[in-house]
Amino acid sequence: MKGSLLYEGKAKRVYHTDDPEQLILSYKDDATAFNGKKKESFPGKGRLNNLITSKVFQSLHQQHIKTHFIQALNETEQLVYKTDIVPLEVVVRNKAAGSITRRLGITEQTLFQPPILELFYKNDELNDPLINDVHAYHLTGIREQDLLFIKEQALLINEHLSHIFQKAGLELIDFKLEFGFLPDGRLVLSDEISPDTCRLWDLETGTKMDKDVFREEIGSLTDTYERILQRLEESVCAK
Ligand code: 5GP
Repeated sequence: MKGSLLYEGKAKRVYHTDDPEQLILSYKDDATAFNGKKKESFPGKGRLNNLITSKVFQSLHQQHIKTHFIQALNETEQLVYKTDIVPLEVVVRNKAAGSITRRLGITEQTLFQPPILELFYKNDELNDPLINDVHAYHLTGIREQDLLFIKEQALLINEHLSHIFQKAGLELIDFKLEFGFLPDGRLVLSDEISPDTCRLWDLETGTKMDKDVFREEIGSLTDTYERILQRLEESVCAK
């Protein structure tokens, strides 16, 4: 049963449940970009991200990736295990787009082989700065072996996600992951995987099909996310 509100973020609300080890994530219709400076509400977005994330996490479970996800409860809510989130944004990049093009002057679409993994400190006041491993140990208290595990998992998840999206006719350009500790100390993938947290380009046309349509005002966010969900559903059914 849904209990009291534990936390409200930019894209989700988090509720207690009867079970102290489980939480309900409720996906909101709000879209934010540029650290909350650009904000708009899109009816139906919460449903789409809930259903897309649920589908992606289920696919990752089939590949034996451990996550906080338990099940979708309804159109906009999902049940997850409570984790102690590590305040790191782990970004994996297969091709150049977004902040790396501005930060390092790399042309958009440049292929990264091997993929580039970057760590950002999850802190709105500081604008989520790029950090190195030693910063991460210092700022988050994480141990060396935990960070090594996070990096290995992120690269493995990149392989699985690239495959999942490729089957849906989408190229995975980059994405952001978050990890958290379960009460027994195990580190698992947490948060969400959706077009809010991934860059996805149409495999044939290169059209942007993710939150960049909102950031760059180049299309309808809900139409785009609806197409992602449809394609994922069709590709899973076609398997
Ligand atoms: P960039 O560093 O280029 O802004 O983002 C790289 C990737 O991580 C993109 O797919 C972007 O959507 C995702 N990402 C980075 N930071 C955040 C964040 O704070 N929130 C969300 N939802 N996604 C992020």
